[in-house]
Amino acid sequence: MQTTLTLLLAALAMTFIVAARYLIVSGGFAALTRARHPELYADSARRTAQVRREIGWSLSAAAIYGIPAGLVMAAWRRFGATEIYTDPLAHGWLWLLASVPVYLFLHDSYFYWTHRLMHRPALFRRMHAVHHDSRPPTAWAAMSFHPWESLSGALLIPALVFIIPIHWAALAVVLTVMTVFGVTNHMGWEIFPRSWLESGFGRVMITASHHHLHHRNYRCNYGLYFRFWDRVCGTDQGWAKELTHDQETPAIGNTGGAAVLGRTGS
Ligand SMILES: [Zn+2]
Ligand SMILES: [Zn+2]
Repeated sequence: MQTTLTLLLAALAMTFIVAARYLIVSGGFAALTRARHPELYADSARRTAQVRREIGWSLSAAAIYGIPAGLVMAAWRRFGATEIYTDPLAHGWLWLLASVPVYLFLHDSYFYWTHRLMHRPALFRRMHAVHHDSRPPTAWAAMSFHPWESLSGALLIPALVFIIPIHWAALAVVLTVMTVFGVTNHMGWEIFPRSWLESGFGRVMITASHHHLHHRNYRCNYGLYFRFWDRVCGTDQGWAKELTHDQETPAIGNTGGAAVLGRTGS
């Protein structure tokens, strides 16, 4: 009885934390978007209805993400049953640093293949159409998923912490990257400077202009953090032209002919 209550309270607490994190981070970036690109919210009636849907689906996703996260938290703090550790040197400095990209790569790989699967006609309508209802998405769409899609996305990291050791701070970095990229990639404008996108960063990482093209064209740019699997599988189409303001510039770092990103200002 005591154990059941502990697990229940942990699941409730984490659901609240995930929902609060979503509202604060998405709300913050949505406010930044309104300040820097008010034209993205110009079609107010349609946009307001879309944002309402995005928030509703995202809050339902918060519960689905929060329950396994709460169970992991209880398993770690109460029962010591996970591979989360607190001594930074327990597995050496090298692993402390490497664990973040390893977790991100595994998450990215899982996301890429499940995402491609969800674009198959039989699954798209049941699992993924909700996310693509946002046309174009806003910062509030970061967790706008049908419950089946949320379930598929919520399980990987809670499962990994039972298998692959990770320091709690490294896990916090992974979750922060997940949150910030999840929100900024849906904002409808590019937050990173052009010089970054033309560098190795832009050739490796997925940012708003890359994911925006997925929301427009559907059958390309399936990745989450990295362009690796899209490049390997030939699904990388570069950046969305509508986020660029410098389309005459020859493409740099693109595989699909999209123009290089220009100013991020309107
Ligand atoms: Zn998306
Ligand atoms: Zn998709």
